[in-house]
Amino acid sequence: MACVTRESLAAEFARHYPGPASPKFWRAPGRINLIGEHTDYNLGFVMPMAIGFSTYVAAAPSHDGKLHAYSTNLNDAREWTPGSLQPAGDWGDYVAGVAKVLVDYQPMNLLIHSEVPTGAGLSSSAALELSVALALLDGRMMEPLDLVRLCRRAENEFVGVPCGIMDQFISGLAKENTALRIDCRGLEYEVVTLPRDVVVVAVNSMVKHELGNSAYRTRVAECAAAARMLGVENLREATTDGGDKRARHVVSENARVEEFRAACAAGDLHKMGELFVASHRSLQHDYEVSCEELDFLVDTAITIDGVYGARMTGGGFGGCTVNLVAPDQVDAFETSITQVYRNRYQIEARVYRSTPAAGAGPF
Ligand code: ADP
Ligand code: MG
Repeated sequence: MACVTRESLAAEFARHYPGPASPKFWRAPGRINLIGEHTDYNLGFVMPMAIGFSTYVAAAPSHDGKLHAYSTNLNDAREWTPGSLQPAGDWGDYVAGVAKVLVDYQPMNLLIHSEVPTGAGLSSSAALELSVALALLDGRMMEPLDLVRLCRRAENEFVGVPCGIMDQFISGLAKENTALRIDCRGLEYEVVTLPRDVVVVAVNSMVKHELGNSAYRTRVAECAAAARMLGVENLREATTDGGDKRARHVVSENARVEEFRAACAAGDLHKMGELFVASHRSLQHDYEVSCEELDFLVDTAITIDGVYGARMTGGGFGGCTVNLVAPDQVDAFETSITQVYRNRYQIEARVYRSTPAAGAGPF
């Protein structure tokens, strides 16, 4: 399915679930986090935007009493009966987890198709959760923030990833043409319009180091320990870092989100770029969640004409960088960064130009 349409989804649906049912269609986007990395689970500030890649679900009631899911990406099917919504340690947990927290049990046929690269730091997981949640709700209304909270709960409690709320929040509530600056403590948000004379470009390193999952858990635990050491409930409340490197990243990154917001409002692209690079250095040296390939992409990008700044985006240990590039230099940037990366690692990086997309809804 090159270009996803309702017709292409309906055709795939009919192939996997023969019968007369006509499915409904749902969609939820992936995201790029502009700035505010590893701050969400510390109840701090983040500034993500949804991207043009989405996960789509075609859904209709099933007639065998079971919940079925088929992923076109993995060419793999799962099914559950009312008593079998238990974690199995595979991709089906995202579906079963959402079913469990949302509606407990719903006999449905789900066909899942995603454009979001998985494990690349663009949040294919939240896109999957939100699109499945809408499919299972089947048009029933739910407060968007409640939906977002439930999808996060599915990932925390069922999949077992101790993530913050950013990914589900932006996939659920994104607005077209704007990023959101989210306060992950009170869940208030405001829309942030990016200056017109800049393009957000993600570069996929195409690597994912195994260390990522365990390091994420370790960082969550280290932040809790740092908060205890500082005598605060969480690192959002910290005003100093007490010499702790993890706390220094979180405290300084929260401040950078606020500075970035001001720089956006002032149209100060150079300041925005500087903050990107400062964020990357903090993630590289203080938080220690970058990797050689991401550092190489950032170090290379900032030497290329028309690049205001670059940083890793997402959890780290691979995945994507995000770059702020002058519109008339994007083609040259793409050629240059992919060539230098190929020469160094013999890997074909993928480049995605992104404009802020709308959040989850019917398709
Ligand atoms: P990210 O959210 O950055 O893409 P995660 O590790 O959080 O990375 O989530 C990726 C996982 O989500 C995949 O390994 C898979 O289990 C699940 N997933 C995402 N999209 C799909 C899909 N279209 N089909 C099946 N599983 C998917
Ligand atoms: Mg994820």
